This record gives sequence, structure tokens and C-alpha cells, in this order.
Amino acid sequence: MNTPGPAGVHAAVMDSSSPAASPATTDAPDTMRVAREVLAAIDAHARAEAPRECCGLLLGSLTEIRRAEPTRNLAPQPTRYDIDPADHFRILRAARAAGLTVIGAYHSHPASAPIPSPTDLAEGLPNFLYVITSLRADLACPESSTRAYYFDGLTFREVPLVPTD
Ligand SMILES: [Zn+2]
Repeated sequence: MNTPGPAGVHAAVMDSSSPAASPATTDAPDTMRVAREVLAAIDAHARAEAPRECCGLLLGSLTEIRRAEPTRNLAPQPTRYDIDPADHFRILRAARAAGLTVIGAYHSHPASAPIPSPTDLAEGLPNFLYVITSLRADLACPESSTRAYYFDGLTFREVPLVPTD
């Protein structure tokens, strides 16, 4: 993220869920349940925004992604994403009102595999879940074009998604 906005985004995320102060490894989930309709919504958003990356926030718990909330992408470059701070705050408020927590973010890789990029690594928030969906079927991992990773502040660790109906 390369504009003044993201600092506010990062602060808001950590202020809202306060996971940053806890030990990095203990919070990492083994798997993440997610409804197929949530995965379908992320995929549809990715296709609608292509060739630009799409982005959004994930609401849920340590074991389940309950909702994917699309946000505007303010990044001028096609291969970056910058979550609109206004969208971010709106979703934070809505999440609180619904008793949900912002647990992570999703974005698309329209032209690359669903694997964290060097930029994703540089801009990762600790104790945050990252869902990446790829539109390149030939580059996507065999089992799924959408993958989830938990970032502990140093590295991304894949968290297998368990689709539910
Ligand atoms: Zn990425």
C-alpha cells in the first residue's frame, strides 16, 4: 500500500480486533470453514474487477469466514490493492453492530497464482487472514483457485479452507 490511506486502514484493523499484541503462532487456525456462497461471491467480485485486483474484508471468527464484504480498490496499479478506508470503517461499524469481527481481507490475483506476492508479504498485517483468489486456472493450485493464509508477522502459513453448504 503506497498512499497515506493504508496507515489508517492498518491502525483501524488492529484497533478493532486487537490481535496484534497476542503471540503470533498461537492464534493461527488449523482450518477455516467458509460457505460455498461466500467463496462464489469472492470469485464473482474478482471476475467483475478483472483485469484489476479486487479486494474486500472478511468477517467471522477464528474458525469460520462468515461474510466477505467487497470494498473499493484505490490502488492505481492493476496488480495492487488498497482497501478504501471509508469502506473499511463502514464495514468495521457494521461488523461490530452484527457481533462479528474483521478477521482478514481478500483480494484477487487476476494473472498469477493464489500465492502471496512479495507485496503481500511487505504489507501483511500480523495475525490477519488473507484469502487470495486466482483467475488463472492454469496457474491455480490444483485443489482450488482460492486459498487462505494466516500471516504471523513474518510468514504466510496456508490455512486449508473447508467449504460448507
Ligand atoms: Zn496479492
